[in-house]
Amino acid sequence: MNPDYQVGIVGAGFAGLAAALQLKNAGKNSFVIFERAPEIGGTWRDNIYPGCACDVASPLYSFSSAPNPTWNNLYSSQPEIFSYLKNVVNTTNLEKHIKLNTDIVEARFLKENGWWVVTDKKGNRTTVSILLLALGPLNRPNIPAFPRLEEFKGKCFHTGEWDNSYDLAGKNVAVIGTGASAIQVIPNIASLVRHLVVLQRTPPWITYRFDKKISNFSKTINRRFPIAQRFKRETIYWVNELFGLGFIGNKTVNTVMKWLALIKLKREVKDVATREKLRPGYQIGCKRILKSDDYYQTFNRSNVSLVTEPIDRFTEQGILTADGKEHGVDIAIFATGFIAADLHLYINVIGAAGRNLIEDWKVTGAEAYLGTTVAGYPNLALLLGPNTGLGHNSILHMVESQMNYLGQYIDFVEKSGNVYLDIKPEVQKAYNDKLQNELKGTVWASGCKSWYMNANGKNTTLYPKLTVTFRKQTKRFSSQVYNVVEF
Ligand code: NAP
Repeated sequence: MNPDYQVGIVGAGFAGLAAALQLKNAGKNSFVIFERAPEIGGTWRDNIYPGCACDVASPLYSFSSAPNPTWNNLYSSQPEIFSYLKNVVNTTNLEKHIKLNTDIVEARFLKENGWWVVTDKKGNRTTVSILLLALGPLNRPNIPAFPRLEEFKGKCFHTGEWDNSYDLAGKNVAVIGTGASAIQVIPNIASLVRHLVVLQRTPPWITYRFDKKISNFSKTINRRFPIAQRFKRETIYWVNELFGLGFIGNKTVNTVMKWLALIKLKREVKDVATREKLRPGYQIGCKRILKSDDYYQTFNRSNVSLVTEPIDRFTEQGILTADGKEHGVDIAIFATGFIAADLHLYINVIGAAGRNLIEDWKVTGAEAYLGTTVAGYPNLALLLGPNTGLGHNSILHMVESQMNYLGQYIDFVEKSGNVYLDIKPEVQKAYNDKLQNELKGTVWASGCKSWYMNANGKNTTLYPKLTVTFRKQTKRFSSQVYNVVEF
């Protein structure tokens, strides 16, 4: 008996769609994509806050097989990226593979059949030979348990759950957090609101973005000469790789990054005391480096204040900081990030021996071989799995590398008949021991506190090398590192 599909993909965000495209381009058409939401798009569907945009330039932040010659800006905004994704789905006929409103709650591997049984919330079951989880690391809003938040009479929401029906015009607003989302929201609402108070715990390192409009002439060149666009993509990629050296141990590149950021801070913030508050006190790169052309300038406005005193508690009217000052606000916006480390899978994944992946990872922290396959969970792959995250380049490059590898994996399973593949535990361990050792020499181990680390202080999020190395590691699949099990 055959399973319903050769491949099942959970999640129709960038990673799931990248996987589907690569399968399709390789002539593999027996696949299904499960998406719990009513629309595709993942993080680019969910994040609709003002100013939401990508900080990786668009010629690179797009599928390698589906370049878009008509990006309007060098760094595209959320609406444009979202419509790019919908357009790719339309033009490549991926729609017929996608099951929307299908919330997968369990995936269970059946040894005797060598396949996964995937069950959705309504109890529908689908069987697939190979299961790819593309759940996305950044979709669980982190709302800290601020004391007495429930007493606050104003409005509050998280940047990832933006409420467009709430009109910010003329309101007193607090933004809590100064990370990647905050630095995009803040400049985009500052001129609307009556007063904006920004509550900063740790200042981020911020560097130049140099966003610009793409001229019609450039768009025409891109359309007529795809090689020109390919050249831009490659150039952006290699410049990013060069700066990546500053994260993985190259002190000269790290120092250059630091001075560029400090020059920018000095040029863009007029008030010396505010500038000092915005100056980071940890090594650049340890937390994600942010890119902005307009964040710092927002603090030159008279209706914006920067508060660095810790939050003590909420009150009925606003937020009380540790210096005893109450900041009266109509709305508090949580720009407080996501629960990302250890992936926090929201589906129960039950492996060959009946073990649960979430429970396993509670012991070890999230880990996989090449961030992709996990011992005890045969024929399963995690797209953007443990330690595949980046601080310097396009994450899509990593997914596409994973899919280069998985294409060969799928071919092997298909050609071998009744077998399934389980990564050898000792191979997975050796890979992760080496990886954790390599992380010790990187900027992420320089002592700051970031969401890259799990509760035990283990970095389960980032890849410790350049993306070219990952591409090399994933270039060739070898069945030797797997237990090839007949069923
Ligand atoms: P984030 O960068 O992790 O920032 C969270 C902010 O909230 C930090 O400033 C953090 O301060 C603060 N915070 C957290 N808990 C707090 C507490 N209890 N009290 C006070 N402050 C608190 O989160 P994000 O802005 O949502 O971005 C998350 C990730 O999404 C990014 O790293 C990036 O990967 C992705 N993203 C990407 C883009 C893009 O352009 N591609 C845009 C937005 C988001 P501390 O630093 O002190 O912890």
